[in-house]
Parts: sequence; structure tokens; C-alpha cells
Amino acid sequence: MRILNCRICSRADAPIDLFGPGNGHLVRQIHSITGVELSYNNEISGQMCTTCLDNLQAAIKFRHRCIITEKQNLERIECRLARIAPQIQ
Ligand SMILES: [Zn+2]
Repeated sequence: MRILNCRICSRADAPIDLFGPGNGHLVRQIHSITGVELSYNNEISGQMCTTCLDNLQAAIKFRHRCIITEKQNLERIECRLARIAPQIQ
């Protein structure tokens, strides 16, 4: 029998099939945020609820923002250092 509770929070209403066609990105995103590698197992739910989907999307945006901002900060520092001491660069 198929288990339909949310794989993440156990909520009963979990309409998203994590292992369904076109949803592979969700499993990859969960891995990139948590380090947890979900794999299909018919004794464990493969579903996710919309609240967890919203939380995942917020976490992905946060992660992306952190990466982009830090990259920009480091580039700005490198530019400043290059102006101050171009011979060191
Ligand atoms: Zn959930």
C-alpha cells in the first residue's frame, strides 16, 4: 500500500510525489539544503506536502542569496585590493 504522508513532516495531506516524473529537482534540492539523500523505498513515503515545498523553496532562495552575496562581497574586496596594491595581485 502506498504511503501518502509527507516524507519530511509526516503530515497526512502530501500531494507532491518526490519521485514522480519532473520532480527529481526536489530530491536534489533537499540534498543540497540538508545533506540528506532521499531515495525511493516503498516502505517509506515518497510524498511531500505543500508546506514543506514552500519551506524548501524559501531555503533554496536563502542559500542562493547567501552564495551570490558572498561572491559579490569577495569580488568587491578583490577589486579594492587590486586598486590599493596592484603589484601584489
Ligand atoms: Zn511536510
